[in-house]
Amino acid sequence: MADQATAQEFDILVLGGGSGGYAAALRAVQLGLTVGLVEKAKLGGTCLHNGCIPTKALLHSAELADHARDSAKYGVNVTLDSIDINAVNAYKDGIIAGKYKGLQGLIKSKGITVIEGEGKLQGTDTVVVNGTATRARTSSWPPAPTPARCPASKLAARSSPPTRPSPWTTSRRAPSSWAAA
Ligand SMILES: Cc1cc2nc3c(=O)[nH]c(=O)nc-3n(C[C@H](O)[C@H](O)[C@H](O)COP(=O)(O)OP(=O)(O)OC[C@H]3O[C@@H](n4cnc5c(N)ncnc54)[C@H](O)[C@@H]3O)c2cc1C
Repeated sequence: MADQATAQEFDILVLGGGSGGYAAALRAVQLGLTVGLVEKAKLGGTCLHNGCIPTKALLHSAELADHARDSAKYGVNVTLDSIDINAVNAYKDGIIAGKYKGLQGLIKSKGITVIEGEGKLQGTDTVVVNGTATRARTSSWPPAPTPARCPASKLAARSSPPTRPSPWTTSRRAPSSWAAA
């Protein structure tokens, strides 16, 4: 594309910074890869901003109200005067804000590059965000773990370690149930 800026390159590009996306990005960094994380709204996605976290905060307030209303049953005399929904929402928003700040700090501290904007896939290894193409080095490094390119015997016989730990050569065991299948 003529109007596209020069591509940035990462070992791994993650599209979407929700629970799934940021967990994948953090794991990739643990494995020694460089990571670009594309997010069009807010890091944390549905769970942090609209799903799990806000619902649990609201449920906590509701549970407290329930306990207060039924307190005499437990020998505690408390009266439930009213529910201040603005204060309930402020409590919920405070929880979200704290966790959002923590997540942003974690992502930054791990060296993950957050690319703000809506990503559009272009080809197999490129995502375009705000007219800028970003590439994932999937075709050059790390090598795909196909049997033809990466047989177990060659991995075992390797004389020198790779410059970076390869995610494909970490020892992982299949669940024992697989063996029976
Ligand atoms: C009310 C509610 C309560 C829930 N409670 C729980 C719970 O208690 N426990 C639980 O385990 N799960 C719960 N969930 C489910 C949980 O929220 C989802 O499983 C989780 O958010 C899925 O994560 P995800 O990363 O796949 O998607 P999302 O969290 O939806 O993240 C996707 C992200 O990608 C971004 N994105 C999408 N397209 C693009 C693009 N083209 N370019 C850039 N960015 C893009 C979005 O902005 C978003 O941030 C709840 C969901 C809801 C709605």
